[in-house]
Amino acid sequence: MSEKKSYKFIYGPVSSWRLGISLGIDPVYTGKGKVCPFDCIYCQAGKTRRYTCQRKRFITTDKIVREVRSLPPVRADYVTLSGAGEPTLARNLGEIISWLKKKKYEKIAVLTNAALFSNALVRKGLRDANLVIAKLDAASEEVFKIVNKPAGYLRLKKVINGIKKFKKSFKGKLALQIMFLKENKHEARALAKIAREINPDFIQINTPTRPSRGMALSPDEIKKIKKEFKGLKVVSVYDAKKKKVKTKIKSNLAERRGKR
Ligand code: SF4
Repeated sequence: MSEKKSYKFIYGPVSSWRLGISLGIDPVYTGKGKVCPFDCIYCQAGKTRRYTCQRKRFITTDKIVREVRSLPPVRADYVTLSGAGEPTLARNLGEIISWLKKKKYEKIAVLTNAALFSNALVRKGLRDANLVIAKLDAASEEVFKIVNKPAGYLRLKKVINGIKKFKKSFKGKLALQIMFLKENKHEARALAKIAREINPDFIQINTPTRPSRGMALSPDEIKKIKKEFKGLKVVSVYDAKKKKVKTKIKSNLAERRGKR
């Protein structure tokens, strides 16, 4: 298979501190920038162009299947549904995950902001994933608005309740990812309390170490934050070791990588 073929919806594999080697599939690709219900201050995919909670079929499952089938041999720990936007906005996400699962591709991960977890169809669509990494960066509505800049009608309480409901029915692993910056570090204790209520399999503590509109906290600040999560299984971006990998499928990788 030629590596010169151009890919639209697949990128990587990339080295990820959370997933090892990850091959990305973007189910909300539009070619016109990010589609998301949030506009996080640290987002690496630029400003949100299409602010929405409206689910739709951005790309047909057939088109994604065709790209996956035409891949050169790729070694990866996970196939990750992520990209330039929020993957659960894709109405066919469940269909794509089921197909990957049936074909016994690598383990399947989904990186999500959990904004739509109050929707039972979204939770159902994720049930075949091996790992779901859900974002939670705020313990109060005020900080939610500052850090995640959600679409006007989204409420943090509803998002948290959605994650709790999801955890109760999900058979795979749930990780909670928290991005800490100066705007939310004072909420570390409150976030740890919510995390204990959600009871995820583990917690990933992050800070924007790549260039973005958000400023990274120092290793010492992250160490202090970690202490608030005592008793929970926690890994932080400063503890993690990254694997080396040669990216084969470039597509518009710069726009997509590391946005979470
Ligand atoms: S970081 Fe993720 S959730 Fe936040 S705006 Fe970017 S794509 Fe959306």
